[in-house]
Amino acid sequence: MTERLYYTDSYLKEFNAKVIQTGEIEGRPAVVLDKTLFYPESGGQMFDTGIIENVSVCRVVLKENVIWHVLDKPVSKKDIHGQINWVRRFDFMQQHTGFHILAGSFLHQLEVETLSSHLGEEYSTIDVRSDRIDAAQLKDVEDHANKIIWENRPVRAFWAEKEDMDNPLLRKVPDEFEKVRLVEIENYDLDPCGGTHVRNTGEVGLVKILGSEKIRGNTRYVFVAGNRALREMQKQYNILTTLCQQLTTGVDDMPAAVKKLLEENKNYIKALQNFEKLGEEKIVSELLTENKTSKIVVKNIEDKKIDGLRRIASTVIKNGHGTFLLGSTGETPCLVFATTDEKLDLRPVFQQVLPLIDGRGGGSVSFVQGGGTNSAGVPEALEKARGLLG
Ligand SMILES: [Zn+2]
Repeated sequence: MTERLYYTDSYLKEFNAKVIQTGEIEGRPAVVLDKTLFYPESGGQMFDTGIIENVSVCRVVLKENVIWHVLDKPVSKKDIHGQINWVRRFDFMQQHTGFHILAGSFLHQLEVETLSSHLGEEYSTIDVRSDRIDAAQLKDVEDHANKIIWENRPVRAFWAEKEDMDNPLLRKVPDEFEKVRLVEIENYDLDPCGGTHVRNTGEVGLVKILGSEKIRGNTRYVFVAGNRALREMQKQYNILTTLCQQLTTGVDDMPAAVKKLLEENKNYIKALQNFEKLGEEKIVSELLTENKTSKIVVKNIEDKKIDGLRRIASTVIKNGHGTFLLGSTGETPCLVFATTDEKLDLRPVFQQVLPLIDGRGGGSVSFVQGGGTNSAGVPEALEKARGLLG
């Protein structure tokens, strides 16, 4: 059985050990050591990386309670020197201790129980038994957690004694106290845990909740702690600064500036729609004038979207008599044919001309529509349809 050196001191970075077993995990060489500083993926915390005798440790897994160090290539030595990736480890120590503090804060401030956690590579999550925590309550939880951090309370890990089971701070009472490792934040939180933590809460620096998701009557909160919290704030600050520069406004005036921008945009869209309607009315009137002398009216309208063509076609067949062949060139070439002639079936003609615009479409006997990709083919398609119908 491997002695877990990180249990007694989570700040050790290097160690010497003996290889007691070799094997293979997922097609890669792996070793078991008599003792290790490498934390295996377990209890919601990710594994450590690092090196053993200059060979990369890519994963550390727990299999039937045995810690396997998965390696880049085999290590031939029996007596080895190992070194963990301290930046990664310390980051997880900050996230993990941050999680304990948050769980304590949910309990102290709202009497809400924590169900589980996951400390991911980028973001961590905490699931709590409630789906009705409002924004003010959440802010209170976050504020309180950060207060505990700045009070720099000692964090201590120890093996449980029988009397610890009666401690009112104990968040989750295990079935038996033997071989249970407890992690205590002084006078605040006590929880069975096998993970790695910082020595004092102050080393967590900051904890920030970033988002939430409701899951079957409970809520999952996404959070970051320590250096990750700083990086997240820097990222968001950079985004905000860029937006402020683009809108030439200060951070505090940003919500009002965006609101104004959205309102202006809404008005522009409305004005544009009115303008388009006026244009369409003019086209309808031209088509109906032409319809007085000709039974087939053909019109190619530049840069009109298919719903615009459809509106025009619907209006002209309500007010005119005959067949209207409408097309539009531009980014989204399209064709709409409509007729009042009850003896006519527009569909076969439409299917014959659609390939000219590399298009697809269909419709009823008297109303067909389709869009394509070849704008240059629109005039030819219209003329061919006129020829076939004429
Ligand atoms: Zn823990």
